[in-house]
Amino acid sequence: MSGAWIEVDLDAIVGNYQEVIKRLRPGARCMAVVKADAYGLGAIEVARALEKVGCEAFAVTRVDEGLILREHGISGLILVLGPTLKEELPQAIKARLQLTLSGLSSLTELNEVCSDLKLELQQQVSVHLKLETGMGRTGFQLSELEALTIALAKDPRVQIAGVYTHFARAAQRDKRYSLKQYESFRILTARLEELGICPTWKHVCNSAAFLDYPEWHHDFVRIGTLLIGHYPGPGFSGKLTLSDPWVAKSQIVHLRTVPKGTNVGYQSIYRTKTITQLAVLPVGYADGFGLAPHFVPQGWIDFLKIVLKNFVALFGIFLGQEQVELKGRRVRVAGKIGMQLTVIDVGKLGCALGDEVRIPLRRTVANPRITRRYRREGQMLSERVMKEGVFPVNPEYSLQ
Ligand SMILES: *Cc1c(COP(=O)(O)O)cnc(C)c1O
Repeated sequence: MSGAWIEVDLDAIVGNYQEVIKRLRPGARCMAVVKADAYGLGAIEVARALEKVGCEAFAVTRVDEGLILREHGISGLILVLGPTLKEELPQAIKARLQLTLSGLSSLTELNEVCSDLKLELQQQVSVHLKLETGMGRTGFQLSELEALTIALAKDPRVQIAGVYTHFARAAQRDKRYSLKQYESFRILTARLEELGICPTWKHVCNSAAFLDYPEWHHDFVRIGTLLIGHYPGPGFSGKLTLSDPWVAKSQIVHLRTVPKGTNVGYQSIYRTKTITQLAVLPVGYADGFGLAPHFVPQGWIDFLKIVLKNFVALFGIFLGQEQVELKGRRVRVAGKIGMQLTVIDVGKLGCALGDEVRIPLRRTVANPRITRRYRREGQMLSERVMKEGVFPVNPEYSLQ
């Protein structure tokens, strides 16, 4: 029995990619961000589909994510956005991953590994310099650039392919912070040029900045959210014609008619109001159902919403309870979502065992064990099933 499965429409992803391409400034290219298993959709399948339609560059956060793409035949540029550990460098270099340098110590480690590997001087390792402009995570600051230049001059094997930064608030309505970040980026890159470092490429835009600032497209835009069919925030909808490639489904595995007043689930937060039918779905928070990133209020309206939601819950009213879709109707989850079982109150919908239900499962938190079924040109292309409990190191593809 499959508790849940996910259908991924690769045509939709390719369509979203083409929407992005149409709006690129001349000279700019799209780097497809396929980190976190392509936001849960499946990095290998997504990258393969995009490479087939001409996408030349991909980005991931970690070395292991990049290695998986290489092992599965992705030949284009693969940039590792996150910091790397020294022990990961030899494999990353052999697989021709482009690494991000975000501090002086990472350069020292890279120099050491290049020597350990006895790389010839003409064998170059391409890196991108990450500049800190306001995200507060990683990257070089103005005061470090001179030392960086001196260190770089010592090792001709390290080649600066790119220089980039990342916006912290590009999806927000208030543009001032992004403008400030871009100004810092300009100052930092000007200083680098003064010091004699002229990287081949510059790139700054994520999905939100790509839509709002065409003048900042430079050589690459790094796009994730738009490719998977989402807008980066409420103000962006309709700016492109996106399609959603993702449908998560489960099925009814137990069905029962119960009297009025039946308590359902942990803490009995749901109680039936009439005689009704309860259906059980073999899916729960272990699969990622009902999970969401921590929500931080952005101003008073958000804060009041949270207070109101928690206040009415004291009286047994649960706002924002998850809903599933069954026979084209929205049905609320009855009670708390369990670890692997969820109950829905289907009333008089006339359900049967095995009926399919659409689950609003968030992409990035959907458990990678859940089978993904890929469609391309209307056909079922392949299925990704976890093999012997291991994913994503050794994903199994079986043609259907
Ligand atoms: C995730 C990420 C992106 C892509 O951002 P989206 O808003 O999903 O398009 C771009 N750049 C970096 C450094 C990232 O970490």
